Amino acid sequence: MKTKTKDIINFDMNAEVYALRRRVMQFIYEVKKTIPTLPRVEVRIGTSKKKEVLGQARLSQRVIWITDKALDMNDDKLRNIVYHELLHAICGTEHDDECPLMQPSLDTILDKNGCLKYFTKHYQLISDTP
Ligand SMILES: [Zn+2]
Repeated sequence: MKTKTKDIINFDMNAEVYALRRRVMQFIYEVKKTIPTLPRVEVRIGTSKKKEVLGQARLSQRVIWITDKALDMNDDKLRNIVYHELLHAICGTEHDDECPLMQPSLDTILDKNGCLKYFTKHYQLISDTP
């Protein structure tokens, strides 16, 4: 599987980077508790050449990248970023200024229940389609 993106430089996996990835995985497990059918997603940790980039996703390969900048943030902010990228990667959900979770920039920080609510809404839109 090709898991490279030109905008983000992947970190080599070492103990420290595994720990960062575990922090991201914990939010994916959180979603899986509510949505057991959630498909597996590859998680990459890296740094962006563009300072404002917090994450990225690739729909076709179900990969998300989370940057060191996002990992410097608190759990609530990181959760919003991870859920957002998961929707891009799993459902192909596009940006939506009206949706606090899918806004193009991190303007609204939802709590866990808010994140799950909007995630489920978008996820159901996809899984209800035959
Ligand atoms: Zn996005």
